[in-house]
Amino acid sequence: MWTRRDFAISLAAAQQASAEPLYFDLHIDTPSRMVSEGLHLGESQPYHCVDIPKMRQGGLNAGFFAVFAPARNITPVEAVKQALKITDLIVEEIKRYPKDLFLATTSQDVLRAKKENKIGILLGVEGGHMIDSSLEVLRQLYRLGARYLGLTHSGNTPWVGAAEYPDGPKGLNDFGKQVVREMNRLGMMVDTSHASDQTFYDAIETSSTPILNTHAACRSIANYPRNLTDDMLKSLAKNGGVLGVAYFSGMLDDAHRARFPELAAIGRQRAEVVKQFKEDHKRLSEELWELNLAEVKLIGQPPISKLVDHIEHAASVAGIDHVGLGSDYDSIGLKLPKDLEHIGKTPNLVAALKGRGFSSIDIGKVMGGNAIRVLRKAEEKAR
Ligand SMILES: [Zn+2]
Repeated sequence: MWTRRDFAISLAAAQQASAEPLYFDLHIDTPSRMVSEGLHLGESQPYHCVDIPKMRQGGLNAGFFAVFAPARNITPVEAVKQALKITDLIVEEIKRYPKDLFLATTSQDVLRAKKENKIGILLGVEGGHMIDSSLEVLRQLYRLGARYLGLTHSGNTPWVGAAEYPDGPKGLNDFGKQVVREMNRLGMMVDTSHASDQTFYDAIETSSTPILNTHAACRSIANYPRNLTDDMLKSLAKNGGVLGVAYFSGMLDDAHRARFPELAAIGRQRAEVVKQFKEDHKRLSEELWELNLAEVKLIGQPPISKLVDHIEHAASVAGIDHVGLGSDYDSIGLKLPKDLEHIGKTPNLVAALKGRGFSSIDIGKVMGGNAIRVLRKAEEKAR
């Protein structure tokens, strides 16, 4: 029989659940594996970083799934076609699991996901090459649900400079600025991950709403070309934008990345395995997983505290209101901090942030409160 005390306890539990911070990841690369390995979100396997059971375990409310086509060795028309195909694949996959997932396109949808205990999947296009220098294609991608565009990936986009492609333009040319203004008009967020430093500053100067850098870290801690310098972090703060701190171990720890050359032989095996088991998806996943484990055995993983160092640094330079999460899960194998190998392990990150002295309010901002603010600002501007 229920007593008044039981009722009070259950009310407290319900309040605690709704008091859990919004968890909104700015960059998840699982669609790439849905393409290459035929992975399904409803099936949980040890080699998945992201699937429905793990998203539930980690408490994810919403996440941007990356629509990605390679930026090199394919024609721009082929890249547009790939973007359409992957968008379709994600939407069809969402429809398979209506109890758990839905396609989210607004900040209201993100809030609704949390309220209804579902997971809102948003679409983020990773690379300007997928619009083939066409504002019409950009608008169509928006209409299909895309709510950010990463201005570039690693090249092949004539209107924008990339961090890892020195042959391209330095920053945004006139057309690139037009793309940014059109995105502002539509309510599509600008993402400068993979962009050159000059593109980052040009985007901030051109965009009339806050921008995102969905998956990178801090250059003053790890000297990786895509990481943001302290000056960039300060500019991002002035702009009102958010850095989604990425989990990629190579971006977090210079000493760890210096050991990547030791992985060369495994890299060659990886290429072989991909060729050999192209048609046998399950086998391919299993073989790749073994190679991921072999990499960990060889060079280890940085501790979760490394990731917290970057979050703490970004918060100290830009302010806590400008830091979020962009895990990049499922694009980097197990090159991830220890105890954060899949999205179900997110409570370990929350515990590490608490241990470092972050308040519950600040943890809420990092987990998703800041990310949703940028989306809301983009929507307000578009209205
Ligand atoms: Zn990326």
